[in-house]
Amino acid sequence: MNIQDLRADELAAFADYDGHERVRRIEDPETGLLAFIGVHNRNLGPALGGCRMLPYESEAAAIRDVLRLSRGMTYKNALAGLPLGGGKSVIIGDPFKIKNEALMTAMGRAVNSLKGDYITAEDSGTGERDMIAMAKETEYVVGLPGDGTGDLGGNPSPITAWGVYSGIRAATRHRYGANAMIGLKVAVQGLGAVGYDLCRYLYEEGVELVVTDVRQAVLEQICAEMPDVHVMQPENIFSVDANVFAPCALGAQLNENTIPQMNFDIVAGAANNQLATSQDEDRLTQKNILYVPDYAINAGGVIAVAYEYFRRIDTNPFPYALTRDAMIAHVGRIEQTIEKIFLLAEQQNITTGRAADRLAESIFLHRQRVSGI
Ligand code: NAD
Repeated sequence: MNIQDLRADELAAFADYDGHERVRRIEDPETGLLAFIGVHNRNLGPALGGCRMLPYESEAAAIRDVLRLSRGMTYKNALAGLPLGGGKSVIIGDPFKIKNEALMTAMGRAVNSLKGDYITAEDSGTGERDMIAMAKETEYVVGLPGDGTGDLGGNPSPITAWGVYSGIRAATRHRYGANAMIGLKVAVQGLGAVGYDLCRYLYEEGVELVVTDVRQAVLEQICAEMPDVHVMQPENIFSVDANVFAPCALGAQLNENTIPQMNFDIVAGAANNQLATSQDEDRLTQKNILYVPDYAINAGGVIAVAYEYFRRIDTNPFPYALTRDAMIAHVGRIEQTIEKIFLLAEQQNITTGRAADRLAESIFLHRQRVSGI
């Protein structure tokens, strides 16, 4: 296995380079692994972030992604109140064509080469089985199957959904005042691992739901389970008459084509990178649409895997026991974080996205590295 750290002068050519602590290139001719691991900032603790596998068109494209995504994780982990820094890894290749156990085990060795500076997790193109393969070579991996007691560990998506639900509560209270969930109508795009459970939470609360997905089977399932749900064609979801739009499918759904169609008061959903460009946040502001920053509202999953990790390494950074209840309570605090974002945005007359960034920076910049986690 060839392991090489890219030099700062090589990285400086990339617009997304932000003084990252380290970007490591890994090539393993035996298994065909070609990957990059990015560690953006460890002021708060070791860098945690998922391992993405995509058929990137070039190494430069993979480096761009690892720089952007690892930086994003620094902000996300800081705002989520986790003593963790930001990191990410990317594997070049089509997961449906070249991924196998040997390749993922080699990736585990690559992760282990950083001796705990980087902790990996599932992301697009990787899943639980890949985490199990990596765990053969490293302890710095999360998203492993639960311990059989239903306590910590296992699929974090329902926890992400709970965080999104908490975020929608914060946003509707801010917009409409107390008891805002009564009579609320929410349009949910994407009924996957997160979106479906979000619908369950909202439905139980009596919220009216309009949903869409490209998979017919999941639409039939939701209609059977929640009979008064309205189903829309995917292309019509943006112009639905509803209070809240919850994008829970793909990134870049808030863009110059979709925003002009929107009559929502709030956008609050699970998807990563919801804004296609930075101008799209201004487009939302011009339409008086309250945007809940994606990385603040969708942090439930990372909080869940962080608890799993701290439990496994038997190191508790919190002043209370590492229980599932404590983890759920931590995810529930997303509601207060979002309230803080709204307040700062109003006080400083900035967008909610910029306010989230400033809050995150106030947490992780100038902070001494937390050691021993
Ligand atoms: P998923 O793949 O399980 O679900 C996505 C759903 O969107 C699928 O049902 C898919 O059919 C549907 N979809 C795809 N294209 C669509 C379209 N054009 N219109 C309507 N529906 C469409 O993914 P997930 O785990 O539920 O994650 C959803 C989003 O939330 C992703 O952007 C993901 O990155 C983000 N996210 C997930 C987690 C987590 O814990 N799973 C955590 C943080 C962020």
